[in-house]
Amino acid sequence: MSSPSQLMELTPLQELAQSLVNCERCKLAKLGRSQVVFGVGNPHASIMFVGEAPGFNEDQKGEPFVGAAGKLLNDLLASAGLSRDQIYIANVIKCRPPNNRDPEQDEVETCKPFLMQQIQLIRPKLVCTLGNLATQTLLERKVGITKVKTQAFYMKNFVIFPLLHPAAALHQGNLLETLKEDFKKLKEFLDRHSKPTQPTNAASTSAAPVLNIESSQPTQMDLFGK
Ligand code: URA
Repeated sequence: MSSPSQLMELTPLQELAQSLVNCERCKLAKLGRSQVVFGVGNPHASIMFVGEAPGFNEDQKGEPFVGAAGKLLNDLLASAGLSRDQIYIANVIKCRPPNNRDPEQDEVETCKPFLMQQIQLIRPKLVCTLGNLATQTLLERKVGITKVKTQAFYMKNFVIFPLLHPAAALHQGNLLETLKEDFKKLKEFLDRHSKPTQPTNAASTSAAPVLNIESSQPTQMDLFGK
């Protein structure tokens, strides 16, 4: 007999996750990954964070950002008034590269459509890209993160807000202060774009902030000085 949970219909986001569980579309499937790390968080989040790829801990647990970089990210989120259950977190590629090497172009190209589908289904207003790879992948441009970080890029359906990758501060201690400052700027951006708080009830306490960002504002692509 089917259990009640088996009878429950999957949401489109859960269906997408399910469809990737045994993914073998790229070589990472055979290079020692333990599992596909799809993403985690509030499926209705107005703010999404996108990292690069799962590392050792993420591969073991099946969740993005659960290792040292994840701990730092949690602290930085808290400093911006955010908690993990309010946001959604995913990576550009969903499988751990061997020895945490950088993702390769074919792996990014294979996995990017699934990130785009996640974004389409979650419909965040703001996508905070963490580090070069996530930023370049979503902006579709070879930009340097240090040049574009904390600038808002207005895309058709969401705004991209690039940030340094937390792991950068773990490797280079002097970047920690910069990262903290950058999350302050994120908080200021959120405060500027938050709608007045709605009356709350117990069920909505972990709801993501309601953002009021016009998606049709002009893009800031000219900031790249093309
Ligand atoms: N770094 C990332 O980019 N993603 C993770 O999930 C963990 C570390």
